[in-house]
Amino acid sequence: MKLDDAPPDLRPHLIPKPRPGLKYRCLACGRTEPPERLHYTCPACGGLLLLEDEAGADLQERSGEFWRRLFDCRRLLNLQPLRGIFTFHEFLAPLIPLEDVVYLGEGHTPVVAVPPSFAADFGLEVFIKHDGLNPSASFKDRGMAAALSCLNHLRRTRGLKEVLAVCASTGDTSAAAALYAAALGPAVKSAVLLPRGKVTPAQLGQPLGAGARVFELPGVFDDCMKVVERLSERYEVALLNSKNPWRVLGQESYAFEAAQAFDYEMGDLALFLPVGNAGNLTAVLSGLLKLRRYGLIERLPKVGAVQSAHADPVFRYFSRPGGTRVYEPVTVRPSVAQAAMIGDPVSFPRVVRLAEEYTRQAGEDRFFAIQVTESEIMDNMIRANRSGLTVCTQGGEALAGLAAAKKLGLVRPGDRALVDSTAHALKFADFQAAYWAGGLERDYGVRTDPALVNQPLSLDLTGVPQPEAGRTQSPADRAAYVAAAAEAVARALGLSARV
Ligand SMILES: *Cc1c(COP(=O)(O)O)cnc(C)c1O
Ligand SMILES: [Zn+2]
Repeated sequence: MKLDDAPPDLRPHLIPKPRPGLKYRCLACGRTEPPERLHYTCPACGGLLLLEDEAGADLQERSGEFWRRLFDCRRLLNLQPLRGIFTFHEFLAPLIPLEDVVYLGEGHTPVVAVPPSFAADFGLEVFIKHDGLNPSASFKDRGMAAALSCLNHLRRTRGLKEVLAVCASTGDTSAAAALYAAALGPAVKSAVLLPRGKVTPAQLGQPLGAGARVFELPGVFDDCMKVVERLSERYEVALLNSKNPWRVLGQESYAFEAAQAFDYEMGDLALFLPVGNAGNLTAVLSGLLKLRRYGLIERLPKVGAVQSAHADPVFRYFSRPGGTRVYEPVTVRPSVAQAAMIGDPVSFPRVVRLAEEYTRQAGEDRFFAIQVTESEIMDNMIRANRSGLTVCTQGGEALAGLAAAKKLGLVRPGDRALVDSTAHALKFADFQAAYWAGGLERDYGVRTDPALVNQPLSLDLTGVPQPEAGRTQSPADRAAYVAAAAEAVARALGLSARV
């Protein structure tokens, strides 16, 4: 849509103007800091930071109706920097001018209704949000678009010359960081730390392809995270883990898009998210609270935080009654939801605070944590695939969480579920192959359901002339091969001859 064709009352607002108002706030000591520098922790006490908007009162002066119409109308504009998460500029990172926004195609991922045959398993309407369709094939691009746009802005306005962006990763953060840093190259370079053997081959190939320096370290993600934290304390690097509060801001766009996809009616909705470092959960809770504060939605949806029994510190904390809750990091065991295999989530203090606020506003039954088994994760991933959907193992985890929540009565028929498939299924294809081969039994405790196994079939073509790449067959050999192979396929499939 052309700007001139937009409704006249919205026209002056469609191109957002940068404004001040954001500040860092420390969750531990309450201290605030101006946004003109990159902070990952409180300079006074080392506590975790969130970015707050001081202009909140001005935003509240507009009606919810205004914001809904503005965001819906903005989606129709063909202006590159506004096509992605910056559709929601006013709620996201309003100090960044559009010229500094890095847009690679992230955001506005499809929301797809699960076919009735599969939805019947859950006993309610189910939708998948395919966040694996982001540019580096995971939701992490939302946060990276915000963080790298901020870095780009500071680079231009503060004259930063060379920037080295670093992160620890379970695979997808590094893929996203490397891609967005590459878009700002050569002044921005990236280095990523991965736990050796704990990311999939596809995920290892991604930062290598984008030109990052890739280090494989012994241990699991939690160990790499400690190394990166020490690096960011002692050296001039830009930390791109979700400790970086700009990433959390960008990931709030998931909540805004979810609201938009359901015409801002979220009262009967239940969101299911796989939880690892809890950055995504932080962002979604924070985004939902914003939507309510500014009047875009009336009722907050239910939110289910899903974890595997092999990496479940957040579940363990919330499964105890209020008042008796204590946080303890866990030692993770191998999980097929490998991108969420984290025993000591960095964003945990943020989640505790936000979950308290959320339940205060929404009601006690509207936030819950769910634990699922490794087998349930694999079964749901493959069963989703068999009903026409592709979800990653973490998407399988979120689906398994929905099934468990239904059994526990936490969601009811009449509710609608929105399940986050956080990455592309193909990144985790190796888990599917291992599942079929029965290779997940020992380390992961996953029992293969024979009904879900599918393997390539070979045909017995002994004595038939075989074609080979690079060698031309004689016409007679070719005819013999085609006839024999077609015959063998027909026999294997039990086809009946045409009459
Ligand atoms: C990072 C990641 C998660 C976990 O998100 P957190 O913000 O760390 O809780 C889940 N799924 C995928 C595919 C991821 O890449
Ligand atoms: Zn502090």
